[in-house]
Amino acid sequence: MENQLGENPQMEGNIHSIETFGTVDGPGVRYVVFVKGCPMRCLYCHNPDTWAAAGGEKMTVEQILTDYDRYKPFLRDGGLTVTGGEPLVQLDFVLELFTEAQKKDIHTCLDTSGIMFRRDNPELLEKYRKLAEVTNVVMLDIKHIDPEEHKKLTGQPIDNILDFLHFLDEQEVEIWIRHVIVPGITYIPEYLERLGKYLAHFKHVRALDVLPYHDMGKEKYKKMGIDYPLKDVQPLTNKEAKEARDIILGAMKKERQEMKEHGEL
Ligand code: SF4
Repeated sequence: MENQLGENPQMEGNIHSIETFGTVDGPGVRYVVFVKGCPMRCLYCHNPDTWAAAGGEKMTVEQILTDYDRYKPFLRDGGLTVTGGEPLVQLDFVLELFTEAQKKDIHTCLDTSGIMFRRDNPELLEKYRKLAEVTNVVMLDIKHIDPEEHKKLTGQPIDNILDFLHFLDEQEVEIWIRHVIVPGITYIPEYLERLGKYLAHFKHVRALDVLPYHDMGKEKYKKMGIDYPLKDVQPLTNKEAKEARDIILGAMKKERQEMKEHGEL
């Protein structure tokens, strides 16, 4: 009989790399799996080598979890994170991996742009529901709150990403929002305020991770022979990142206050 989803530890993923001591991809110290493939083309992407779906190393769910066990003592307060690339390009694999991980009481975190989410296919939606059940935290990257600017920054529309945020909130999954602050692109008070105001409406948004733009990916572009699109943009300082975070949180607070006053909260 064919295996049901969540019962196939031999399923293979196409893996770009693994980091065994990750400290920035979810709570605690984490085993981080970077998968291959991403349909976005964020101008500031520092992992362009993950874009192509081909060319990674094939690893089964079982192999990854056996490797995880070798580092288990260090990962006690952390767990397993899948990032990329875009992990949900390999939805079936991530679903298998997290299902098996949870059977072993491993904390699971998904770092995603949400770009692959669709509601119009019932079979696919069912997989997303199952994934939500076996995911402890989703780190959702919102690249830009303005639809036009989002398209310019990533090459993709924002609609499904925001719909994924709604879906996660409905499924009561803990959500951490990630937002990269780029001078001249997202480091603009109007957009930061709009983002904060928007996020105020989601009950399960529990953290906001504001990341200052840096250009450390430049060398990879050089090696790959592709033009680095933001070569004239200066990295953001930590002070500016903090200011940006304060603007987003301030707008969130204000919106929630107004919602309370209108009896919506
Ligand atoms: S979603 Fe991530 S991996 Fe894909 S292009 Fe954007 S930053 Fe790069």
